[in-house]
Formats: sequence, C-alpha cells, structure tokens
Amino acid sequence: MSIHSTEKKHLSANGMLREVRATFDDIPTLPKDPRGLKHAISQADCLMSGLSVFGLKFPSLLQFDNGLDDPVVKHNLRTLYRVKEAPSDTYMRERLDTLDPQSIRPAFVRIFALIQRGKVIEDYVYLDGCVLIACDGTGMFSSDAVHCGNCCEKHHKDGTITYYHQMLSGVVLHPDQREVFPLCPEPISKGDGSTKNDCEQNAFGRFFHHFCKEHPHLKAIFTCDALSAKVPYLRPVVEKGHHFIVGVNPTGNPSLFEWLKGVEMVTHKVTLRGEVLELSFYNKIPLNNSHPDFEVNFVDCKVTNRRGKTSHFSWVTDIPVTKENVFQIARGSRARWKIENIMDPKN
Ligand SMILES: [Zn+2]
Repeated sequence: MSIHSTEKKHLSANGMLREVRATFDDIPTLPKDPRGLKHAISQADCLMSGLSVFGLKFPSLLQFDNGLDDPVVKHNLRTLYRVKEAPSDTYMRERLDTLDPQSIRPAFVRIFALIQRGKVIEDYVYLDGCVLIACDGTGMFSSDAVHCGNCCEKHHKDGTITYYHQMLSGVVLHPDQREVFPLCPEPISKGDGSTKNDCEQNAFGRFFHHFCKEHPHLKAIFTCDALSAKVPYLRPVVEKGHHFIVGVNPTGNPSLFEWLKGVEMVTHKVTLRGEVLELSFYNKIPLNNSHPDFEVNFVDCKVTNRRGKTSHFSWVTDIPVTKENVFQIARGSRARWKIENIMDPKN
C-alpha cells in the first residue's frame, strides 16, 4: 500500500513531533510558575522536553538533566522537539506537575488523525471491520515517602503507606504489524477504588467514554485481561456497536465456569509456526448469575509450544464464535502481549 507523500511526511518522526508541538503550544499556560515568578521557560518547551525523555531514551530525568550539556542532545531537542530553552529536571517536574493530564489529549487525537488520513489504519483492521485495542493497567510511580493529593494509597499492616500512580493504557495493534498506536491513557486516581479491579474498571469506563467521543467512526474490539470481565463495563461496549474479547478464569467468574461444566464444546485444532493450538468454544452462555440476560461466547485455548510446554487461556467475547473465526479470536487476544512484559519474543 502506498501512502501519499504529504501524508508520509507528516508520519515521519519529525512531522509527528511538529504536530505534537502544535497541540502543546495551544494548551493555555498556567499563569504563574511554582515560585510565583514569571515563567522562565515556556510550558510547551517543558512538555516537549518531557516527551524527549522518552523519545531520546533517557533512563531517568537526572540523565536528561546531565544530557543537556551534550551537543547532540541539544541539537535534537532544538531541531526535532523544537525546544527553545530546555528546563532542568527539577523545573520541568515542577511545571508539569501542575498540568491536568487531560490537557495533552489533543496530541494523541492529532497523531491518530494523521495515521487515519495516511490510511495506515487500514492495515490494522482485524476482524469484522474492527481494529484491536488492547487495554491494560500499568504503574508509573511508587514511593513510601513522596506523594501528592491524587496518589492511590496502599495501607500496609505495619502502618506504613505506599503511594502510587497507575494508568490504563490502550493501544491499537495487529498481530501481523510491528507498530502499535497508543490512544490517550487514562490516569487512575484515589477515587477509583481500593482494589486493582475497581481501579482498572473505573478507568476503563472513562477510557471508553473518551474513545467514543474522540473516535466516533472507528469500530473496535477491546481486548482486556481477566480484571475486566464484568457486565457493567462490557455492556456499554456492545451497546455502542463495538466488541470485546476479555480473559476469564474460575476465580473471577465462578458461575460461568460452573455453567460450562455440563456443556459439550466444539473443538478445532490449528498448527502455526510449530505451535499447536487446541481451541474449544461454546456460544451463548451467561457471563454470571447476576446478569443472566448478558450472554457471551466462551473460547478455551490450550497452546503447546515446540518444546512441549503447554499454557492455557480462556476468553469470553460477544462475537459469535465459529470454526472459521475461533483462531483469529484467540490470536487477536494473544496479540495484547505486545503491550505486556510477559510476551515471549518467539511468539
Ligand atoms: Zn501522587
């Protein structure tokens, strides 16, 4: 597939960073810097410097600070990130801490629009005209001492508290494509609940709400881990015309597995790159007893790799499962490992 040359230009690293810079320039600057002084450095310079920590692969903010003396880093910051004046790591943190994370949403939307306009997204349509969006919660800060008003708290038996921040990230991916496209992550905060389940599910609710608003024409299959197999979070997905493939297990979904005990499943065997997948499925079964009207389709997958090692997975989906699509459903769900650390590089 060929991409029109102007679109291609936008999709280069340089083009995308220019677009991101433009959205950062549009974010209203908070009136005063933390010391009550006139801003020494623009907010957009602080944001772009923050982004460069990832793009230029600095292992820490301190390394970024040290890197500011390096002429190559200076050059990249100026030409690629369009940073007129780079902040120290302390100053950058002080400035960025005061910004609402939602203010950077337009950057994600702008980049995604470029990908769509460049027709790149067409290569990511996976099943039933939908793209796969893998969602997962991830931690990005934890400390026993440093904390802020939005920190989630874990209270330990000995009276100490661990403060942490997490977010729910969602990326568009495809099992046959190397690149993944992140959508704007959803911060998880103290108000989201005290358990990992509550936190991720509440964050998913917001993530999905924003997704529907920002991408009204994009049809998606959301793949999530076993934490999300709850009716209140899955029903809106189906009602809005999207699909889900969600992990299940006997601990989280006991009544589903109880239901399955007596049924005879359809089985299907697939061999791919030395791996044998034994797939079984059963359609139209209630996800749990409290919502008997909410029926799902169950897929069980036993994988035996070349060395004879077996692993076992179970999912539920709203997509009616057939012998023709069961492998694709299993493969689509396993592709979410692209965003998880447990991904086996040989997969
Ligand atoms: Zn905090």
